[in-house]
Amino acid sequence: MLRPLVAGNWKMHLTVEEGLQLLQVYRARLEPLAARVDIVVLPPAVTLWPAAAVLRGSPIQLGAQNTGWEDEGPFTGEISPGMLAGWCPYVLIGHSERRQLFHEPDQWINLKLRAAVRHGLKPILAVGETLEEHDAGQTDRVVTGQVTAALDGSHRDWAESLSVAYEPVWAIGTGRAATPEYANGVMARIRRLLREEFASAAAGIRVLYGGSVTAENAADLMAQPEIDGALVGGASLKPDAFTAIVAAAAATASPV
Ligand code: PEP
Repeated sequence: MLRPLVAGNWKMHLTVEEGLQLLQVYRARLEPLAARVDIVVLPPAVTLWPAAAVLRGSPIQLGAQNTGWEDEGPFTGEISPGMLAGWCPYVLIGHSERRQLFHEPDQWINLKLRAAVRHGLKPILAVGETLEEHDAGQTDRVVTGQVTAALDGSHRDWAESLSVAYEPVWAIGTGRAATPEYANGVMARIRRLLREEFASAAAGIRVLYGGSVTAENAADLMAQPEIDGALVGGASLKPDAFTAIVAAAAATASPV
């Protein structure tokens, strides 16, 4: 099995000072688990640079919640992937809040992915259907469309750095996680798409589940064969819950 990846998406929570304090707690609690799990924290952009200093020498890795795609220029409010390269290894692309609230179309997500890979970042591509799409039986069509559009023009070497997070929108922040079996089924579909795109190199791409992952449901989710880890929102702000989720991932990992 692949080495699990657990990423904590803080969204727009915590001041810089609060975030750095939480990172100190995470260093103490999560570092012993990092031998078996890749642990990534995704704080707000303003916290990234001081967070890199707090995490110096730590196996806990940093990620940005978003990126632009141009290298530089008149793009007020954006951060370029080149600004992250070299010190902030991961970047989340296509989160449903970006897609829905900020109207990011598939084409932008593709441009961001291309730019992230060009700059040597490790993108976590988020995909997932809304409740309406789910209820209308369109999950497969929507997820296939999002993955295919995001990977348009990809190269085999993208597989070395890419992860995909399946996050049903109806499960994000609602307390209503997908059942492990349902998530596993959609993720098997995502894996088939990745194999079509990347052939044998797809075997190394981690597919994460996201959407109301908690200390209570993490072990059952991680036990599914297609689930290589979790993208965690709300629970990543709570040290006990996030530690339990990372520990659940560690328990499924092959011994090092
Ligand atoms: C997320 O924001 O990606 C997420 C999965 O949130 P939550 O865990 O709170 O549902």
